[in-house]
Amino acid sequence: MSRPGRRDRKVHQPGGREESKQMSETALMETTPMAPGTSGEMTTIGVILAERLYAGLIVDHEVSGKLLSSPAEGVRLDADDENSMIEMPTDEVIASICKLVVEVAKGHNGPIQAVGVALPGLIRGGVVEEAPNLPQLKGARVEALLSKGLEAQGLHVPVNLVNDADAVAAGLACQHGKLDHHIRVWTIGTGIGYGTYPFAEGVWEGGHGVVTLDDKENYCGCGGRGHLEGIMGHRAMRLRFLDMEPEEVFAAANRKDPDPRCLDFKKLWHKALAAATASSIHFSGAGRFFLTGYNVRFLDMNMLKDYLHQMVKMSPLQGYALEVVEDDRVTRVIGAAVAAEQSVGR
Ligand SMILES: [Zn+2]
Repeated sequence: MSRPGRRDRKVHQPGGREESKQMSETALMETTPMAPGTSGEMTTIGVILAERLYAGLIVDHEVSGKLLSSPAEGVRLDADDENSMIEMPTDEVIASICKLVVEVAKGHNGPIQAVGVALPGLIRGGVVEEAPNLPQLKGARVEALLSKGLEAQGLHVPVNLVNDADAVAAGLACQHGKLDHHIRVWTIGTGIGYGTYPFAEGVWEGGHGVVTLDDKENYCGCGGRGHLEGIMGHRAMRLRFLDMEPEEVFAAANRKDPDPRCLDFKKLWHKALAAATASSIHFSGAGRFFLTGYNVRFLDMNMLKDYLHQMVKMSPLQGYALEVVEDDRVTRVIGAAVAAEQSVGR
């Protein structure tokens, strides 16, 4: 399975996407949003943006059938693309999402109550206010654009945007049967996401939390100094080690005779995560933290726990737990759908 940000992906261009000829058929499809609880089951569509777009029909918090993707799984992505959307203009991103949602909806006869879309970045009121890793979306009124795009194809359904890390938290809460618990999650990938569940109004860009006062720490994609993502993010690691891939850095740090520069960085990486987690604990209390994303493979849990132990000393705050969970796109798609489902009820 290819993962975002890997350079070893085979070179090919994603240009050959097929135009869907099913639009006119689906244009006849009418869906009526329903208040939750008026029917036995809730049918929604969840969409995520990973190295491709993925979408699935979610019935009662489970994926019904297969996730669809755009570009389709068979289409290879550019070798250096962290994802296929990174240079895609906003209107194309919107069109791709609409097309995929319509495709998913096509296979379903009943009403669809909501469409949930998870995107990286700071999202408020259906607008992507900031997205360091997808800069073209900054300021885009994505919720309104998607509603309009879907309506044009006969799909009248409320659309809800959610931060992708919050979608992971919601998906995990759902899959672990903890929809009523407070959950926090770090997503460790191209960027660093910090998600919480239950949903709440506000901003928690935990990935951009300040974890060092070192003036030279300025690798974060947002331009901010001393940020967690500027140390742990995949892109930031590439900027720091221009001569080595992050995989090579950690391999050199974990050797019997470790490369001192790489070992120092491995320590910094873990200290940064411990610091950000400790800050969250000091602001919001102890509790469970999930760790996920394609770079949890670099995690040395003992090292993290050791640093965290040094940073959190007040005994009422020491009842925290850390748990690594599989980076699973199904979790994210479900989370996006759950967010949308709950927003219909708001
Ligand atoms: Zn930042």
